[in-house]
Amino acid sequence: MRPIHVPAAIAAAFILASCAAQPIAPTAQRIYALDCGQNSALDQSRWSPGVNAGVPIVLSDNCYVIRHAKGVLLWDTGYPDALTGKSQTGALGTATRAKSLAAQLAEIGLKPSDVNLVAVSHTHGDHVGNVAMFAGSRILIQRAEYDWAFGAGRTAPFPADVKVEKLDGDLDVFGDGSVMILSTPGHTLGHQSLRVRLAHTGTIVLSGDAAHFRDNWENRRVPSMNTSADATRASLERIAGVLKAENGTLWINHDLPQSRSQRRSPEFYD
Ligand SMILES: [Zn+2]
Repeated sequence: MRPIHVPAAIAAAFILASCAAQPIAPTAQRIYALDCGQNSALDQSRWSPGVNAGVPIVLSDNCYVIRHAKGVLLWDTGYPDALTGKSQTGALGTATRAKSLAAQLAEIGLKPSDVNLVAVSHTHGDHVGNVAMFAGSRILIQRAEYDWAFGAGRTAPFPADVKVEKLDGDLDVFGDGSVMILSTPGHTLGHQSLRVRLAHTGTIVLSGDAAHFRDNWENRRVPSMNTSADATRASLERIAGVLKAENGTLWINHDLPQSRSQRRSPEFYD
């Protein structure tokens, strides 16, 4: 058989053409991790039943700003800005906030009115403390979460006149697959997590409170206050599947060592 000689220039052009034909997955532009408070809890076993009973733990509390060509999304709003420089002590521990959310947004050039989208993982007070600051934004929350939290006999987690957009499951936020709300119930009835694709960092999943810290994530532990243990486990498996499929990284909101190891706003990941 005669060898087939392909001129080098043609071969190179072919390689370039086949590279160009590769679809480039749409990505968000940047993610910033903002300090949205800290909780010094007296007993870790509230989150890890039977494990480390009576051992204190300090939990971080993050908010995340995701910049996309089509808009700015804030994920969770943290403890209320009114707590800035103060502390609040209850039976379970002490919550503080070193810096306001508004000041940290200003540091990256944003006013609350520039944040056109807000999504909250769930309605606990360390996640919805500043929702009312974004009354002009599209606020994305699971219907199951909203209807439960604002149900009869419950204390409204934020002012009831704040308009929200109720979701029934996953949402492709910008319509290009780059930022996806994932329905991950279990911690609460309508808990959600967020999958973010970035050009250099790759895929990140923001946990919400699907897991509170690394040890709980690795051992698939279910906190005592969760609304459903079975739903929690199913949601953890769902997240694990997404991470595996995209070789992604889980950012665990309340895991202080992980939070400290990451770039903090105004630094960012892209
Ligand atoms: Zn929380």
